[in-house]
Amino acid sequence: MKILIVEDEPKTGSYLKQGLTEAGFVCDLARTGPDGQHLALTEAYDLIILDVMLPGIDGWEVISRLRAAGKEVPVLFLTARDQVADRVRGLELGADDYMVKPFAFAELLARVRTLLRRGKPREADVLRVADLELDLLRRRATRGGKRIDLTAKEFALLELLMRRQGEVLSRSFIASQVWDMNFDSDTNVVEVAMRRLRAKIDDPFDRKVIHTLRGMGYVLELRDE
Ligand code: CA
Repeated sequence: MKILIVEDEPKTGSYLKQGLTEAGFVCDLARTGPDGQHLALTEAYDLIILDVMLPGIDGWEVISRLRAAGKEVPVLFLTARDQVADRVRGLELGADDYMVKPFAFAELLARVRTLLRRGKPREADVLRVADLELDLLRRRATRGGKRIDLTAKEFALLELLMRRQGEVLSRSFIASQVWDMNFDSDTNVVEVAMRRLRAKIDDPFDRKVIHTLRGMGYVLELRDE
């Protein structure tokens, strides 16, 4: 499996290349937008890890040009900005996933493997678990066809849980993903947000999708009850 990394920060680029190489991937590293675009158009890659802020042309432009040229290779965006607008823009342009910097390498590796396993180039715009639906582009949540109003953080939290359906997510992991907080941070904010989210998507319904595992974290899945 061959991966192209497009990242201008020397430390991050080398770290990614080394880590992915050790994990068994063949990696090329480009340090500018034009170099990344050139390699992506001329070589065959199974996945591209693409930084947004790059010298020359930025990540948005690179992915637009790749998709315009008919390249359907999966693209994992790296972004230092976790604005909702950026995520929407990336997904509209054809990104398959994104990670907010700084990230844990283990997390990146898991996403890389998922994208490669999935094998289909474009991610669905709507996440579904049973009768719960999350429309990523229109930023809308519904359950049983009923619209549910979520704050931006609740939406991000639900998106994370739905993307990781069936996986137990620790509070510190959730905090790092949704709030961009360090592992040492107070994770009470996660519990409060989770309670509000459950009040909206679970409390009015018979079948619960969010479950607490004491001392471990949370999991979103539909269980036989
Ligand atoms: Ca950069």
